[in-house]
Amino acid sequence: MRKTIIAGNWKMNLTAVEAKNLARSIADYVGKRSDPLVILCPPSPLLSIVGNEIAASNVELSAQNVHSDDLGAFTGESSDTMLHSVGCAYTLIGHSERRAIFNEDDDFINKKVKRVVAGPLKPILCIGETLEEREQGKTNDRIKQQLRDDLKNVRISSGEDLIIAYEPVWAIGTGKTATPDQAEEVHAYIRQLLEEIFTENTANAMSILYGGSVKPENAVEILAQPNIDGALVGGASLTMDSFTGIINSV
Ligand code: PEP
Repeated sequence: MRKTIIAGNWKMNLTAVEAKNLARSIADYVGKRSDPLVILCPPSPLLSIVGNEIAASNVELSAQNVHSDDLGAFTGESSDTMLHSVGCAYTLIGHSERRAIFNEDDDFINKKVKRVVAGPLKPILCIGETLEEREQGKTNDRIKQQLRDDLKNVRISSGEDLIIAYEPVWAIGTGKTATPDQAEEVHAYIRQLLEEIFTENTANAMSILYGGSVKPENAVEILAQPNIDGALVGGASLTMDSFTGIINSV
């Protein structure tokens, strides 16, 4: 049985006070509920504050980014060891904004995934095609290339050690959502590729999240698809009403 996950990526939003209040409200709302698993991904300066607020609940903490080394001269970066020490259980890797704005390539992302799967955090690996790639009919090629490169020589013992987030770049923060059929088609393809990269059992146990302008109005239909195991939510995770609306759509 795959875990259903609703993760809120706050990106570079909220002050310490706003984050504390939102985290407390979400923790109170979720309490000891474990289905879906709710994960919050605040900006790194706010991780401890959010971690304290959710500590007594089943809400989990995730970083938005991680470095591929453990320590050293990497100004502005954080390692998996550090992130774990402030309460993180997960980290996003390869979000399209990291790839596009900060020029992270598949080789660097692969190094991060390899390090993180061997340590205390679970990676949420983000992949997805651009609008140009979709319009040129290259969606599957891009997904295959990203999965093969980002997961090269990655060793996991079960499908629960890794989470995939399929986020078509053209649907992130644009208000454009993939139709449930479009999303399901890619998710089924991703699962088939995961089966080739790992094993059938591993692929069947791995949660594949959809991300891209998910909101309460479209969540029910998206989350009802057989290969969609949850959502990675950006903008709609910043307010209680919209985020809980999505949690309740599972
Ligand atoms: C995201 O940041 O991962 C995301 C999917 O953003 P949004 O929901 O705002 O499109």
